[in-house]
Amino acid sequence: MKGSRIMADTTAKEAKISMKVIVDKVKKRVVYAEADHTFVDILFSFLTLPMGTIVRLLGKHDDTELEVLGSLNNLYQSLKNFPECYLATEDSKFMLLNPRSLSYYHTKNLKLKIDDTEPMKYFGCRYHLCENVNKFMLCKNVPGKDFSFRRCGSCNLMMELTHVYWDSSYSFVSSGASVFVSDIETYIVTDDLCVEPYTSAISIRLLADFGITDMNHLEERSIEMSSYQMLHFLKTALSIVYPLTYLVFSIIKYPVRELLGDGQDFTVDQCSLLKKDVSACSKMRLEVSLQKSTGRLLFAEAKEDFVEFLFGFLSIPLGTIIGTLMNGASSFSCMDNVYKSISNVFPLKGVPARLSEQHKDPRIDGSLLKHNGMFMVTDDLKISPSNSSSTIDILKTLEVLPKDIERHEVSFGLKEGLIMLNASLDSCSTLTRSLEHQFKK
Ligand SMILES: [Zn+2]
Repeated sequence: MKGSRIMADTTAKEAKISMKVIVDKVKKRVVYAEADHTFVDILFSFLTLPMGTIVRLLGKHDDTELEVLGSLNNLYQSLKNFPECYLATEDSKFMLLNPRSLSYYHTKNLKLKIDDTEPMKYFGCRYHLCENVNKFMLCKNVPGKDFSFRRCGSCNLMMELTHVYWDSSYSFVSSGASVFVSDIETYIVTDDLCVEPYTSAISIRLLADFGITDMNHLEERSIEMSSYQMLHFLKTALSIVYPLTYLVFSIIKYPVRELLGDGQDFTVDQCSLLKKDVSACSKMRLEVSLQKSTGRLLFAEAKEDFVEFLFGFLSIPLGTIIGTLMNGASSFSCMDNVYKSISNVFPLKGVPARLSEQHKDPRIDGSLLKHNGMFMVTDDLKISPSNSSSTIDILKTLEVLPKDIERHEVSFGLKEGLIMLNASLDSCSTLTRSLEHQFKK
C-alpha cells in the first residue's frame, strides 16, 4: 500500500507538460507561446489558489532572485507560530493554514499537481447507538504521527475516515481531461500572459506588434515543464512583467513593477467581499506606535478582530483578490491578464475555510480567535500576543528607545483594509502604507 503510494508520487513528479515558444533570438525575447489545454488549465488554476497556499507552495523554492508576496510571508509564519490558546478551537489554526477554494477538487484533474494541500478528512463514529454518531472530527495530518485510525471516545469502536466535499455539484472526471478550457483547441499565450484561442490572424498581429523585421530572427523552441518548474513560473508571473522571456532566457527584461503606488487606485465599490468583513467589525481601532524622532511606524496594537481580519487574507483566492477586490488591476499585471482571459469562462469563488453544514464549524460566535486578546502587529505583519517579552523584543529589533515612542489611535475601515491587503502582497511596509494618511500631518 505504502509502496504504491510512493510510486504514484514519483510518476506525478515526473509528469511534464510541453509547449512551443516563438522567440526573437536577436532581441532575446519570447514573442508568444503556443500551448494546449494542459498549460492553460494550470495557468488558470493559479487564480483558484488561496493566498496562504501560494505562500506555502512558493516557500518551497529556494531561489532568492525573485522575492514575492511581501509581508504576506510573515503573516503566514505568524499564523503557523500563533499560540493555540488564543484560538477559538483547536481546529481553527488548521482551517486557517489549509484554506481551499471552491475549485479545490476541480483542479485535482490538472496534468501537473500544483496544489498539494491534502483533502480534508474527518473521523466519524458510525455505531448507530453511540452518542457520537454522525459527529465528525477533523483529521489533521501531523508529520510523524499516524492519524489513519482512531477510536470513538464514547463507544471505543473504530471510527471511519470520510472526505468532505465543498462543492456538491462536482464530480470527478478521468484524469487528463481538460479542467477549465477545451482540450481540442490550441492557445496563444503572450509574454505577459494574455490567453486566446490560436488563430493565424492573432499570430500575425503579435509578430507585427513585436516589430519583427527579419523572419530569420524568429525561432521555434520546445519547452517542457514539471510541476516544480510550473510553480516557479507562478513565482515569476507574480513578480515580473515578462515571465515567458524569463523562462526561456533567464533575463528580467523589465524589473518588478512598482505597483499601485500608494494603493489608491482600485475601486472601493467593487470590494463586496472585504466590505462584508470590515462592516461586520466596523469599529476596529488600532493603537499605533511611532518613533518620535523619525515619524516611522513601529508597530500597532490591536484586538483579535483585527488579527483575524489579517489572517483572513490567507484564505482569499488570488483570482478573488484580482477580480472582485482589485477590479482587474492588482499588483500582479500578468495575473491580471490571466484573469481577464478567463473571467467570463469560469467563476472563481472564495471560501475562507467554510465547511458543509453537517460538520462542526471551528468558530465560536463566528470568530476563529478567542475574545479579549491584545496583539502586536509589526509593519511587515509579524503578529504576536501582546506581552512584555514581545514588546521588548520588538523595541530591541527596531533599535528604538522607549522615550522616543509616541502612540496614536487610528480607526480601521474598508479603505484601510483594501490598501492593507494590496500592500501585504508587494511590500513589507504594509501598516505604514495603509495607515499613514491618518497620522501624517
Ligand atoms: Zn461511537
